[in-house]
Amino acid sequence: MSEICQFTAIPYQLKPSLRRRSVALQIRNGQLTVLAPAGVAKQQIDGFILQKQQWVARHLQLQQQAAVPPDYLLAGLLPLLDEKLQLKVVSDSCSAVSRDGQTLWLQLSNRVSTARRRQKQLELLGAWYQQQAELWFAARVAYWQQQMQVQASAVHIKNWQSKWGSCTSKGLLSFNWRLMLAPCWVADYVVVHELAHLSHMDHSSAFWQRVAKFYPEFKQAKQWFKQHQHLLQLV
Ligand SMILES: [Zn+2]
Repeated sequence: MSEICQFTAIPYQLKPSLRRRSVALQIRNGQLTVLAPAGVAKQQIDGFILQKQQWVARHLQLQQQAAVPPDYLLAGLLPLLDEKLQLKVVSDSCSAVSRDGQTLWLQLSNRVSTARRRQKQLELLGAWYQQQAELWFAARVAYWQQQMQVQASAVHIKNWQSKWGSCTSKGLLSFNWRLMLAPCWVADYVVVHELAHLSHMDHSSAFWQRVAKFYPEFKQAKQWFKQHQHLLQLV
């Protein structure tokens, strides 16, 4: 169960157990897990995290410094917003990527040399994510534009390494396709953030007020980036 501490905005995984008598915190792979007796109120758990905040922050930071991007290709499991797709690679007469339910088929041309196979897979998947991003961001920008009563001049999808979105003074919005590897609520935050720049081109308090008006969880989203942005790489 994914939760967010209401006092510290630290995201955590809650693992309730019938056998436990007390709450315990665990940090693994740069993530906080809370082991709690079944039925303990969220308020109480969040209060416990608040008490241990310094310990949690120190250990998260230590682990994140060592955090390396997961090898999704090797794991055969690809995140796509809130979904996880099983990757199946097959040799074929031509290269292509197609989705069938929760399976992502990657046909790799048998003309690709063994030495180039991994690189080629990454290129094909990158192009596929780019297409997904074009569709998803077009839809989410349309939705949020209506909520916020603003209008972007155009939406572009970019292949940046570690920049997530931008907005120009002419109202051109750009988004990184790697946000398709993040949960929906995080990618949505970037949409609201960039659309808010149509009203305020800076990061003034007026800007953040506007973000908060439409996206009250923005602090959690910023926190998510601090802790998890290493996940937003294919390798
Ligand atoms: Zn900004």
